Formats: sequence, structure tokens, C-alpha cells
Amino acid sequence: MSIPFIDLKTQYNALKSSIDSRIQKVLDHGAYVNGPEVVELETKLAAHTGTKYALTCASGTDALVIPMMALGIGPGDEVITTAFSFIATAETICLVGAKPVYVDIDPVTYNIDPNAIERAITAKTKAIIPVSLYGQMADMDEINAIAKKHNLFVIEDAAQSYGASYKDRKSSNASLVGGTSFFPAKPLGCYGDGGAIFTNDEKLFKAMKEIREHGSESRYYHTRLGVNGRLDTIQCAVLLAKLERYDWEVAQRQKIADTYNKAFAAIKIPGFAVPMIKANRTSVWAQYTLSVGNRSEFQKKLTEAGVPSSIHYPRTMPDQPWYKENTPCQNDISNSRHAAEHVISLPIYPDMDTATQDKIIAAVVAALK
Ligand SMILES: *Cc1c(COP(=O)(O)O)cnc(C)c1O
Repeated sequence: MSIPFIDLKTQYNALKSSIDSRIQKVLDHGAYVNGPEVVELETKLAAHTGTKYALTCASGTDALVIPMMALGIGPGDEVITTAFSFIATAETICLVGAKPVYVDIDPVTYNIDPNAIERAITAKTKAIIPVSLYGQMADMDEINAIAKKHNLFVIEDAAQSYGASYKDRKSSNASLVGGTSFFPAKPLGCYGDGGAIFTNDEKLFKAMKEIREHGSESRYYHTRLGVNGRLDTIQCAVLLAKLERYDWEVAQRQKIADTYNKAFAAIKIPGFAVPMIKANRTSVWAQYTLSVGNRSEFQKKLTEAGVPSSIHYPRTMPDQPWYKENTPCQNDISNSRHAAEHVISLPIYPDMDTATQDKIIAAVVAALK
């Protein structure tokens, strides 16, 4: 059997009875939108992250748009973010009419460099959006301190990091507001698009909840501009089942990452780097990402050995055609551009057996020779 990049089938088989019965329950009660599973999931997500308020939404993209709308970020405002992320991070800033200001990454963690943030602040800066890339949170203490000093909002793009921790805080609960994604390939995925937003701020929560429902304060009474940003009841049912073994899944991902790290530790080749998790942090390993000198050659050899790989991401956001034209980058982002040329992710998923891990490790070692 060929190795998948992620294996959702085995996961489904392990959870089949719970997923099937929860979906059947929704089909039986028929409340496909705003059904009881929605609040049940939100209560569990809030408890799991230690956040006061959790709000499910239609996607990880909406989980960024809705907080920005609620905070009144719009035309004339600047939002500082990393240059190196999935495009939704910059896209959502543009969608609310604000201007993304891209700054460079720490080349070791691939996350936003706090020193670069401070240099990019202007009178127009309204918010900072750090991304917890590959499952590891950014330098939240430094970022929150900068935000406090300059009176800025911090919105964590936690699309890849549900369940990760920074000191005693969980991802999405380490700043004013955080948004995650339940896209199937994310660490906690549903069976379609989905997301959730987290905050401890009651006023912000209420505003975001209204925005999620067409800006309605009550039924057919619209006090603000909103979106249709709800998460379907069936997706909530799937997530309730998946949440049951999620902590085990994260531990499995961690074990596989440890196995990879140990196997690759002795490799001393210029340009080769294994992922680095900073002290006081845990990653949920959304991706296990290496940096290699000659990536195309390396990837070709992996493919020939039957090992799939993926590149997150082959271009920085401001180097994407539309963004290059409409949101030109003013800052030095050389670390981001270097990462875009050299990173490559290996398969990692909770149900991966040791034989598969061994095969992947052997292919990596051989490809580097
Ligand atoms: C996946 C992702 C998003 C968007 O999430 P969707 O659910 O696909 O809308 C945003 N930011 C980052 C960093 C992501 O990886």
C-alpha cells in the first residue's frame, strides 16, 4: 500500500461508530443549522482551550475575517503579519479593506520575528496577526508586550495549531482573540470546511457572534454588517466525535516527530535542518517540516521511493501575483524567501505505524546522500 500524506481513512475507521451515530442523530432531529451540537461543541472547545468563549464558524478564513470586522479593522488601517503563511492570512486583511504589512520570520521556527514587528509599526498600525505555523505558537509574550505598548490588537492565526501550548496557555487563548481551522487536513479537521474563534472578552464575543449571523442582534434585526459564517450542525457532530481522541492524536504526532528528530539528528549536511520547538512550547505538528539545500532533487528522490511530501509554502504571500501587485512588501523578508525555497514537509498523522515511519526515514536518509 502506498503511503498517504495524511491518513483520514484509518482515523475514520477508528471513530466510525461515534461519528456515524452522531451524524445520524443530526439527520434524525433535522436541525441542520444552529442545532444542539453547535453549542455542545462550542462548550467543549472552550473548556479544552481554557477560553471563556468559543464560537464555531464556517472556515479558518472566517475565523480571521469575523474578529477583524468585530474590532473595526478596515480601510486606512495597517495589520502587521508574517510574510510566510498560507494566503488566507493576508487575504483576510485585504478582505476587510486593511493593508497587510509583511515582516520577516525567525529562520529557526519559521514564525514571525517580534523584532521585525516593532520596526514595522506606524501611526496606522491597528493589529498584529502572528501565525502559529506548522503547529507551533509564535513568541506570544514578546508580541503581546509590543501590542500593549503600542495599543494594538493581537489576533492569533491558529489555523494550524489547535491544541498547541505556550507556557500555560493554549493556542487561541494567548492573546485577545484567536481563530482556528477545521479544514480536513488540519490537526483537528471536520468533513468539509469549518473553523472556530476564541476569546475571553465578552463584548468582542457578542460582536463576533452577531457578525457570524448576518450582523443580527436578534432574529431579522440587523444592527451591523455581518456574514453567513456559521458551522453546520453535521460538522459539529463530526468534531465532537473527533475531539474524543484528539489529545491522544496530538501525543501520537509528537511521538512520530520525536522519532523523525532522533533519526535525523546525526545528519550534518549544510542547509539541512530539522524542525525546532522552542522551550515552554508544544507543537501539534500540523506539519513536520525539514529544510534542505537542493529541494527539488530531494523531493524527486522521495517520490521515487514512494514517500509523498508537500511544500508549505512555495512562495511568500507578498510574492504571490495578486499580492505583489496590490500589497507590495516594504520590508526585508529574506528569511521568508529562503524558507519558501527550502522547506519540505513529510507525512505525519496519528495512525502512522512504525513500519511506515521507518520507510520514510530510510527514504529521507537515502535522498540526502
Ligand atoms: C488553513 C489556514 C487558514 C484558512 O483556513 P480555512 O479553514 O482553509 O479557511 C488560515 N491560515 C492558515 C495559516 C492556514 O493554514
